[in-house]
Amino acid sequence: MDAAGAWGEEWDRVFDVVVVGGGAAGATAAATGAAEGASVALLEKAPFTGGTTAKSGGVMWIPDNPLLRERGVVDDRDNALRYMARTAYPTLYDPTDPTLGLPVDRHRLLEAFFDGGSAAVGHLIDLGALSFETVDYPDYYAHLTEGSATTGRVLQPVLPDDWTPGRDATGGQILVDDLLRFSRDHGAEVLVDHAVDRVVRNEAEEVVGVLAYVGRRPVLVGARRGVVFASGGFLHDPRLVLDYLRGPVFGGAAAETATGDLVRIATEIGAQLGNMSHAWWDQVAVEVTARTRSTSADVYSPFGDSMLMVNRFGHRVVNEKAPYNERAQAHFVWDPYRGEYPNHLLFMIFDEAVVESPERSIFRWPVPTSRRPRDYVIAVQSFEELAEELRDRLERLAPVTGGTKLDASFLTNLRGSVERFNQLAANGEDADFRRGETPIEQVWAGEPRPGAASAAMYPLAASGPYYCVILGPGALDTKGGPLTDEHARILARSGEPIPGLYGAGNCVASLAGQAYWGPGGTIGPAVAFGYLAARHAAGEPARSPA
Ligand SMILES: Cc1cc2nc3c(=O)[nH]c(=O)nc-3n(C[C@H](O)[C@H](O)[C@H](O)COP(=O)(O)OP(=O)(O)OC[C@H]3O[C@@H](n4cnc5c(N)ncnc54)[C@H](O)[C@@H]3O)c2cc1C
Repeated sequence: MDAAGAWGEEWDRVFDVVVVGGGAAGATAAATGAAEGASVALLEKAPFTGGTTAKSGGVMWIPDNPLLRERGVVDDRDNALRYMARTAYPTLYDPTDPTLGLPVDRHRLLEAFFDGGSAAVGHLIDLGALSFETVDYPDYYAHLTEGSATTGRVLQPVLPDDWTPGRDATGGQILVDDLLRFSRDHGAEVLVDHAVDRVVRNEAEEVVGVLAYVGRRPVLVGARRGVVFASGGFLHDPRLVLDYLRGPVFGGAAAETATGDLVRIATEIGAQLGNMSHAWWDQVAVEVTARTRSTSADVYSPFGDSMLMVNRFGHRVVNEKAPYNERAQAHFVWDPYRGEYPNHLLFMIFDEAVVESPERSIFRWPVPTSRRPRDYVIAVQSFEELAEELRDRLERLAPVTGGTKLDASFLTNLRGSVERFNQLAANGEDADFRRGETPIEQVWAGEPRPGAASAAMYPLAASGPYYCVILGPGALDTKGGPLTDEHARILARSGEPIPGLYGAGNCVASLAGQAYWGPGGTIGPAVAFGYLAARHAAGEPARSPA
């Protein structure tokens, strides 16, 4: 027990910096704080660390990172800031304005990320805490002129030579394990099964600790210099999702513990919330989320060239190969005349060639690898049979979909949509939705099949079998929470920082606004602000508990 002196015996433990949550943001904060010489505790609600990060590839989007610089590539600061501002706040963006049309505080966050992300990676490399390698992906909006990237902004932890997806630890698990190993080696304590329930403040209203529960036992943990929340988003709190997100969402692959605890904890002490209607959107298989809101996989870059998606009217409504965050927003289109979300559900339809493809892509799910039946994959011989089977399944799903049914025009329109899709695919150009045109879609599409006009599209076979998965809107996790400043300090409604309280990662308002800048767009900022938070906190004077 290191409770001592002025801290009194009511405190179970006292540290300099207390980190709440053991994902990317928390592990970075713990490693950074420990390296600064601070005594650090990381409290994790689950019986194990990793959070949503452990399910991920651990890929990080970091402009101007040290690996880019090593290669002699200049990632111009103004250019990168324009790219981030233009896509995060497209309706505010003004390239002639000193803060690019953004409120000064929002612009400052982008600057802090540009400078801090690169510094964080450099620092972790110098400390020997984590090794990085470049993943050759372009930005998600690299086709836009503003600041459009170079490749090279995307990093991941170095993976073992014979690394195999599905068999070995994910890149995200490696990221967290390496950072926490470093933290422990530098004296930090990692305490699992510690669910933080509230913060404790002294008479000066500075945050000086947290109350956590270990089972039903309350534990009071003091923090002399700061508490860094890194507790993930709120995707799995249905009430917060209902009250804040911009549209109905079925669930997603965020860890089950992504229940938005910081939203309640921080608003209780007057924090200002921001960006609450946004999430890192993707698509989910509705028959899977009907069973479990926290899925093991979602639909990122839908697999297969002879594959299309249609809505309940049988119409194609979206570029099926657009990045998940962009594509999923098609589900939120509102039809005021009919009073419905016409794309609430989309039906991903593909043929035998897609199923028979031997490719072991990380994006393959939910396409089965063989003819082994999966209950969320409909297998039929014809489109007539598909319409019948969908009608049955939609009836069973009514309690979770609000009763979405196929329109009477579905079958006729589906045939027309497939015919049109097949023509576009044969020509190799999607005049309707521009599928396969952006740099990221071209990388993801890989090589075309022999004789194909496009790698992204191929005509569906003239006869069955056909397959279908019912998709709905989901998310990797949410990206709203308390607003923070350039040091990751959580802000009160007055706009002033709440002394001693920090936040990073999905638990706070994302500086990315509505955007998903590129592969690693969530973990990049989580690492940057985990680092900035811990550095600032470790440098604070020790506070008195009274
Ligand atoms: C399959 C998949 C692949 C992905 N791939 C990528 C990728 O490659 N790159 C990318 O940028 N993003 C990716 N994402 C998204 C990314 O994983 C997350 O956005 C990111 O890891 C979140 O990090 P975090 O530190 O904010 O939160 P988390 O990793 O979710 O960590 C939060 C932790 O806080 C704990 N916690 C919550 N409440 C409390 C409490 N009250 N007390 C104590 N502990 C608490 C949780 O249990 C959890 O361990 C992917 C997501 C999935 C599901």
